Amino acid sequence: MGRDLAIDLGTANVLVYRQGAGIVFDEPSLVALHASNGRVLAAGADAARMIAGDGGNVLAMRPLRDGTMTEYDVTAQMLEVVLRKVGLGRLSRPRVLACVPSLSSAVERRAIEEAVQAAGARHVTLVEEPLAAAIGAGLPVHEPVGSLIVDIGGGRSEMAVVSMGGVVEGRSVRLGGYDLDAALREHLRTTYGVAIGERAAEELKVAIGSAFPRGGERRAIVIGREVASGNTVEVELGEDELRAAMAVPIRGIVEAARATLAEAPPELTHDVLDTGMFLTGGGSLLRGLDMLLAQECEVPVHVTEDPLRTVAIGAGRMLEHLDDYRSAFQLVRRR
Ligand code: ADP
Ligand code: MG
Repeated sequence: MGRDLAIDLGTANVLVYRQGAGIVFDEPSLVALHASNGRVLAAGADAARMIAGDGGNVLAMRPLRDGTMTEYDVTAQMLEVVLRKVGLGRLSRPRVLACVPSLSSAVERRAIEEAVQAAGARHVTLVEEPLAAAIGAGLPVHEPVGSLIVDIGGGRSEMAVVSMGGVVEGRSVRLGGYDLDAALREHLRTTYGVAIGERAAEELKVAIGSAFPRGGERRAIVIGREVASGNTVEVELGEDELRAAMAVPIRGIVEAARATLAEAPPELTHDVLDTGMFLTGGGSLLRGLDMLLAQECEVPVHVTEDPLRTVAIGAGRMLEHLDDYRSAFQLVRRR
């Protein structure tokens, strides 16, 4: 096993690919903080367990959630725990390839680089996330053909037309799976006067959420707290009702995908009409989202084989062939 790592630092999940070993870490990008002194007590799945079993001394934080790196220090501490968990603590000083959103500013990139360095990395290379996703999806990124990648994460979705080893047309919206959860919570509050937690909303979405109607409506029961009385109540909901409740953020994602395609150079758009759109990220698992995108963008849509891991797999492949990628295609920009 090598000491080099590729990291997909998502708003919902952190994945680490270790050279020669594959994906060695895949956990929520979540930290547990000491309520009074703000120190990071745990990260990832350990943090989730600690928060669940806590009596009030522990705070939960998702440092990357809003899509910016405002919580640099917490992010660095989270990464330090992650590196330790994969057996590469401070003394190992690994080299790290870290994915960044394609439209992130120079300041944001610098912040990510510094957070990874502060976590113990000796050297950091930044790579644009849609490029890693395209490589993970097995697309011909080196060739003069256009490929459209749509990556729907928790707090952010990224769309990019990739060709000749670079992002030709890119777009990023602060909309993702979390916004669908928030829309469901809002719906329950305004329509039924019931408050439900973030986890309950996400579970409801995964259980019966959909973006496109199909025969046979599924139903589910969610448990919440009636705002007026404070009582615990059950609400039964149907798939169609949920789809309507999530329509606004879903529309935002679809519009961004359509605009990306519309603004790409015509010859590349032409390729995409042929080869289609490649949908990835956890949000792509929402039932029928592929059908909706196919209908609205008028291109074939393929969901990648392992959408939650596509970026990490692609970044890992770049790591294994870093010199080829760097010299031949300048996929990786050191800043
Ligand atoms: P990020 O790259 O921002 O960390 P991920 O690609 O890990 O995000 O995706 C996380 C999002 O995917 C979450 O909002 C989660 O609710 C959503 N998600 C995961 N599985 C499903 C599913 N089966 N159906 C709908 N959404 C899902
Ligand atoms: Mg992601």
